[in-house]
Amino acid sequence: MMNSTDSDVLVVGAGFSGLVAALCAAQRGKSVRLLSQGAGTLPISSHCIDLLGYTANNTLIADDPWDALETLPQEHPYRIIGKKNIRLAFSFLKQLSEQHRWPFIPLHPEGKLRNCLLPTIMGTLRPSYFAPSAFALQQLEQAKQVLIAGIQGLYECQPALIATQLRRYSQYSPKEFSEVLLQPPFVSKGASSLSTLDMAHFIDTEKGLRWLIETLQVHVSQDSYQAILLPPICGTKASMDLMERLTGELSCAVVEMLSPPPGVGGLRLRNLLLEAIKPLGIRHVENATVSGAVGEHNTCKALVVSGKDGERYYKARNFIIATGGLLGGGIFTEPGKARESIFHLPLAIPEETEQWSDPAVFGSHLFARMGVMVNNRLNPVNAQGQTLLTNVHFIGRSLGGYDPVTEKSGNGVALASAWYAAQLL
Ligand SMILES: Cc1cc2nc3c(=O)[nH]c(=O)nc-3n(C[C@H](O)[C@H](O)[C@H](O)COP(=O)(O)OP(=O)(O)OC[C@H]3O[C@@H](n4cnc5c(N)ncnc54)[C@H](O)[C@@H]3O)c2cc1C
Repeated sequence: MMNSTDSDVLVVGAGFSGLVAALCAAQRGKSVRLLSQGAGTLPISSHCIDLLGYTANNTLIADDPWDALETLPQEHPYRIIGKKNIRLAFSFLKQLSEQHRWPFIPLHPEGKLRNCLLPTIMGTLRPSYFAPSAFALQQLEQAKQVLIAGIQGLYECQPALIATQLRRYSQYSPKEFSEVLLQPPFVSKGASSLSTLDMAHFIDTEKGLRWLIETLQVHVSQDSYQAILLPPICGTKASMDLMERLTGELSCAVVEMLSPPPGVGGLRLRNLLLEAIKPLGIRHVENATVSGAVGEHNTCKALVVSGKDGERYYKARNFIIATGGLLGGGIFTEPGKARESIFHLPLAIPEETEQWSDPAVFGSHLFARMGVMVNNRLNPVNAQGQTLLTNVHFIGRSLGGYDPVTEKSGNGVALASAWYAAQLL
C-alpha cells in the first residue's frame, strides 16, 4: 500500500465518542491515530451527559435511570455494553474531569444516582444525569429567591417567559423569581442577534468576566438572591477558576440553563478532552475524510483518506468508528436506502421514506434510530446477526438500536460505548 501509516488503533471521528475512545485506548498503552473531518455535535451541545431520560414507552425517568436500563430492548447499545461497564465509563469521566479541575458529578441534589430536571432557556425542565459541579444545582433547588438574567439581543433567552414557564412546575412554584435583561457589552458584527457563543468568547477574557461580574453585582446587591440562572455564556473553557471568581464575587450560586445550539457547555468538554489527549502522543489528523476501506475476509486492513495529493492509507490492527449519525456524517441516505459512510454497510430501513418518521413531531422517529447494528464486541453484524468485520468497533451515534433524541441518552451512549470499545482492544 502506497503512502501508508500504521498504528495499533485507528479512531475515526473526533466527537465525544471518538475523543473518549482515543484517550482510553492510549491510556491502555496502544499507539493511537485519530482521523477527523470536523468536530461533530459536541461543541454545539450542552454540558450535560444524559444517561437515560425517558423509557422506551416515553415515560419520564425522574428517579433512578440505572434501574430503567434493564427495561430497554436487547439491541439497545446499553444492553450490549452492560450496566457494570456503563458505571465504569461514568467513573472514568468523573476521574478524568477531576484531574482537569472541571469535575462532573451526578446531578441529583442529594448526590443520589438519580436523574435531575434541569431548566432550559425555554423555561421547560429536561432530565439529565451528569454535569459539571461548577453549576450548583443543589443550591438552585434550595434557593428561595432566584434571579433570571438574559441579555438584550440574545433573543432565545427571555427571562420573563422563563419565569412564567418555570412557575408551572411544582418544584419551582414556591420560588420568588426576578428577571433582568442586561445591556449587551458590544454590538454583534453583521448578525442580527447575539449568540451564546459570542458572549462566552467575551467572558473568556478578563474584560468580559469583569463585565459579567459588575453587571450582575448591580442586581445582586439590591436583593439577596441565592441563585442566578444564566444562559450558557460562562466562557468556552472548562475553567473552575472563572466559576469560582464569578460565584465568589457575587456570593451567589450561578446555574447555566440548557439552550439550543450553540450550547457552549459541550465546547468546554471538547476543550477538556483535547487537552487530555495532548500528552498521550495521539496523532490527530484533522480535516481528514475517510472515504473507504481496504479489507480481507472479515478484517479491515486500512482506511483510505483522499486528498488533493492523492490517496493515503492508514493501516491499523483495530479500528474504532465514531463517525456519528446523520448529523455527524457517519450515515448517509438516498431515497429508500440508508448506509454507513465508510464501509457502506446497509442499514435496515423501510423502502418507503414516509415510514422513516413519526407523524407526531416529538414522536419516536425511525430515522433517529438509524445506525449500525453490532454484536457484544461492537463489531458490525448483518440482518442475520453474523459478524461482518472482526477488528472494527462502532461507537456513539453511529450505533443503531436507540433513539438519543427522545430517550435522552446521547452523550451517555457515546461515553459508555467509547470506553467499552477501548477495553476490547
Ligand atoms: C444540538 C445537540 C444537542 C445535544 N445535547 C445533548 C445533551 O445535552 N446531552 C446529551 O447527553 N446528548 C446531547 N446530544 C447528543 C450527543 O451530542 C450525541 O449523541 C453524541 O455526542 C454523539 O457523539 P459522537 O462522537 O458519536 O458523534 P458526532 O458528535 O456526530 O461526531 C462524529 C465525528 O465523526 C467525524 N466524521 C464523520 N464522518 C467522517 C469521515 N468519513 N471521516 C472522518 N471523520 C468523520 C465528524 O467530523 C465528527 O468528528 C445533543 C446533540 C445535538 C445535535
